[in-house]
Amino acid sequence: MSMPSEKAEAHLSHPLFLNALQSVEQAAELIKCDENVLERLKKPKRCIAVSVPVRMDDYSVKVFTGYRVQYNSTLGPYKGGIRYHQGVDMGEVVGLAALMTFKNSLMGLPYGGGKGGICVDPTKLSRTEKQNLTRRYTSEIGPFIGPAKDIPAPDVGTDAQTMAWMMDTYSQESGYAQPGVVTGKPVEIGGSLGRVGATGLGAVYVAERAFERKGKSLKGATVVIQGFGNVGSHAALYAHERGAKVIAVSDVKGGIFNGDGLNIPELMDYIKTNKFVENFPKSKPISNEDLLLLGCDALFPCALENVIDTHNAEKIKAKMIIEGANGPVTNAATTILHKNGVFVVPDVIANGGGVVVSYFEWVQDIMSFFWDEEEINKRLKSIIIKAFDQSYTMATEKNVDMRLAGMAVAVQRLEKAMLLRGLYPR
Ligand code: GLU
Repeated sequence: MSMPSEKAEAHLSHPLFLNALQSVEQAAELIKCDENVLERLKKPKRCIAVSVPVRMDDYSVKVFTGYRVQYNSTLGPYKGGIRYHQGVDMGEVVGLAALMTFKNSLMGLPYGGGKGGICVDPTKLSRTEKQNLTRRYTSEIGPFIGPAKDIPAPDVGTDAQTMAWMMDTYSQESGYAQPGVVTGKPVEIGGSLGRVGATGLGAVYVAERAFERKGKSLKGATVVIQGFGNVGSHAALYAHERGAKVIAVSDVKGGIFNGDGLNIPELMDYIKTNKFVENFPKSKPISNEDLLLLGCDALFPCALENVIDTHNAEKIKAKMIIEGANGPVTNAATTILHKNGVFVVPDVIANGGGVVVSYFEWVQDIMSFFWDEEEINKRLKSIIIKAFDQSYTMATEKNVDMRLAGMAVAVQRLEKAMLLRGLYPR
């Protein structure tokens, strides 16, 4: 694989991006993708870095760095979340924007791929500071976003309230309400029913399908979930509601275990007041590292990238991995897991539920006509299952793992569209 060597391209050397590139190159080989298309797919179209000065509660001013990467717009406006985390840098955002491009393609959405973020620990900010940061960041990237250009959404460290501030700032600067500029908003201001739980629900639909394909059922299966944020908590809840036994979950502070199954609705109530899962009644503590190694029918890594790599892949005892997070399992680890018979459903399929319902939200905003939750969940299920099935067929036909298969389906759609659009000027 070619390695970007120039200093100017240092942001193209992040492990997450290199992993994505490697899959893209392998996928391109598998489907005999046009060489010129592949060259174009290997680079982000636009990388924006902005400084974001923020008035803090003590009246001092702190300057944060924000990013928005617009990776590819062949299929439509750029689309992808905004991450607030102390680990965010341009390289990570490029990797995440690339993943969005292939996820949106695989889901069959009329979107290109983008991602944004700010290097900040949001848990250290007051509500006012977070609002000031969000509004100034929105204003700084304002010229580049818009309902027809680039539509941000929540990701790690951001939520519906963050999107409400983004929507308001963009609308104030436009002079009129522009609900379609972001998705994942509260329902009261043009958000969609079902959006909050959509990524977790999508992951569970995918898990059900994967079990079905293996002649098994999610009902009665043992499930382990790493990360109890928006994705992990909803995946746990929907798996629990479908009769799975969720035996362990964790958050940044560590995990909890109960071999008979945790009561997830009670746990969701518990974290409303306690914030973290630790000391939940009828559970034993377990470290995040040990949690990943538990024997179970399905492991859902729903936190951050690169948690399963060559240092622990051989020790994984789960029979199936459903990637709720973006990039939790590296390519090298995927190869080891595949060899060991662990069925890995990659992020571009498993966590696609969020952006699928974001798409529904955007459509509803444009039409100013809103659907009920049943309609949304039904449509989500059919789109995500189709993406799973297309990838499964590709995996079976070409005898490759699901990561490569999903990427191949995604690259194939992009290739067709890029060849039809051609190159400007030529
Ligand atoms: N941040 C989510 C993801 O990684 C959602 C993106 C969106 O809804 O645009 O897929």
